[in-house]
Amino acid sequence: MYMTKMNMGNVDIAISKRLEPFGETVFATWSRLAVEHDAINLGQGFPDFEAPEFIKEAAIKAIRDGENQYSRSAGHPKLVQAIADTFEISVDPFEEVSVTCGSTETIAAAILGLVNPGDEVIVIEPFYDSYLACLSMAGAVVKIVTLHTPTFKLNEDELRKAFTDRTKMIIVNSPHNPTGRVFNKEELTLIASLATKHDAIVLSDEVYDKLVLTGSHIPIATLPQMKNRTITLRSLGKVFSVTGWKIGWAVAPKHLTNPIRNAHQFLTFCAATPLQVAAAEALRAPESYFSEYTTAYRERRDLLVEGLRSVGFNVHTPEGTYFVLADHTPFDFEDDISFCLHLVKTCRVAGIPPSSFYANSTEGRGLVRFAFCKGLDTLNNAVERLQGLAKT
Ligand code: GLN
Repeated sequence: MYMTKMNMGNVDIAISKRLEPFGETVFATWSRLAVEHDAINLGQGFPDFEAPEFIKEAAIKAIRDGENQYSRSAGHPKLVQAIADTFEISVDPFEEVSVTCGSTETIAAAILGLVNPGDEVIVIEPFYDSYLACLSMAGAVVKIVTLHTPTFKLNEDELRKAFTDRTKMIIVNSPHNPTGRVFNKEELTLIASLATKHDAIVLSDEVYDKLVLTGSHIPIATLPQMKNRTITLRSLGKVFSVTGWKIGWAVAPKHLTNPIRNAHQFLTFCAATPLQVAAAEALRAPESYFSEYTTAYRERRDLLVEGLRSVGFNVHTPEGTYFVLADHTPFDFEDDISFCLHLVKTCRVAGIPPSSFYANSTEGRGLVRFAFCKGLDTLNNAVERLQGLAKT
């Protein structure tokens, strides 16, 4: 945890009220614990295998070709063109696409650019942790809707109750981190109809759009009348195994794009130029790249899900993303944190305790999140180490 107060001579420095409730992110904490205990890290979501050669070569070439100065703030022309060309509906690359330093920045830019203090924003829990921190920085009033265990389906009554005349935005994430749910047409149509009725913006976080392992992903912007009120977030990191490149983008109509760009120009101005050029080339990879990528992930998912079941966890098979939420209650620990501490210290496997992804419900205390963006050997070794749980 960060200190909230420190002393600089005579001056008392305290973290701002907006960030006071948020300590170090759970991802940093558990990656550090994984290193300390020499554990297999199935916590923070990043691959332990290399990015494909073609994307690395494209970045090296872009640097050699002199693509080394600031790019256009809203995105390198080559990248915004590639994003528009590969997007599901027709969009203007120069007016409706904005490139940022990863989707974590797009989330911040969209919230800071569009939400005023006192505006209500609906967040579906469990949620990605930066949503609440950015909403707090913007002074928003947060309304939470829970995806309940064990199916994590969207509850119509609870969603209806969360919408009011003051709802400015709803944040939707599908494929969903950490549950692995991919919202179906019925759930997305419900969100779309309520957003339309209450004239709310939909911030649709689709960074796992290429990681649909069962069923199919419907971008909410493609539903009737939704393009005009939807901001779609996508990124490069997951699909090309380059999470450290931090290249993300927002696709949105002009009236929503302009506020995002206003915030982005003061947050980072532009993303890394040579990496944007490489991203433009990568997005034009042949269809076989994407289908092989999904097939490989299906194998990783099945290995981990079956392994976890064999150890004694109850698991809801993820339809998408590279995460699985498992119910650890068969092992009789007090909560998710005590379970994960035991796991990292004794079994030497790191997971993420998901209670910090919940604001209302305590359901996260009985769960643990594992990431399967790892080589098959890593996953096999992790399952073998987890067998130790049966003996506790
Ligand atoms: N999205 C990643 C995860 O859920 C973490 C990203 C980060 O650490 N900023 O594990």
